[in-house]
Amino acid sequence: MTMQKLDILAFGAHTDDVELGCGGTLLAAVAEGKKIGIIDLTQGELGTRGTASVRLKEALLAGEIIGAAVRENLGMKDGFFLNDQAHQMAVIEIIRKYQPDIVLCNAPEDRHPDHGKAAKLVADAAFLSGLIKIETTHNGVAQAAWRPTHVFHYIQSRNLAPNFVVDISAHMDQKMASILAHASQFYNPNSEEPNTFISSDSFLEFIKGRAKEFGQQVGVQYAEGFISEKIIGIHSFDGLIQKTT
Ligand SMILES: [Zn+2]
Repeated sequence: MTMQKLDILAFGAHTDDVELGCGGTLLAAVAEGKKIGIIDLTQGELGTRGTASVRLKEALLAGEIIGAAVRENLGMKDGFFLNDQAHQMAVIEIIRKYQPDIVLCNAPEDRHPDHGKAAKLVADAAFLSGLIKIETTHNGVAQAAWRPTHVFHYIQSRNLAPNFVVDISAHMDQKMASILAHASQFYNPNSEEPNTFISSDSFLEFIKGRAKEFGQQVGVQYAEGFISEKIIGIHSFDGLIQKTT
């Protein structure tokens, strides 16, 4: 089996976190020729609506809309996974498998406690993955150590201050389409399942509103916000959005 190196690997605790938090950024990266993958830690089996198998199918469809080269599910326990050695080793194995330069993961703190937990688990594993004395195998073959150069946290429910935002104006419609691919979770006037925090029409409006607010700060229509634990360097001022704000 040939190894498929990816440019960006996006992790989510639940199967819709990536679409909601950084779907537009991934679409923008794919549009410029980057290879991206999505890793869901759990199947979101504790979600009020849908079932694990329905949610897996929806996630695969959403991944296709985003243009992900791969989407895998690590099968951790929704609500109860831990940031311990066993879980870190599972994340290290998948990072070494795809050797991403950039890792995207959940918000460092959020409404759902799994999000902060996943953020720490993935960030810790991304660091440990670079240590050669931690030995892992994939399909029986020893893996080389690999440390992503950047780990960025996408902002979710809580109104956290971003360190930078990414212009997703050209990809907002596709982002919303990828979210709606999770048909069991989001607004569907024909659904007979119980209403939840995320199933109302106003939740979709909130997602658009959040992107609009981040966009407004930098003079574009829509943007997604990220937090970096490290200082970010730039090669040139040419990469900056040049709008008067
Ligand atoms: Zn989530």
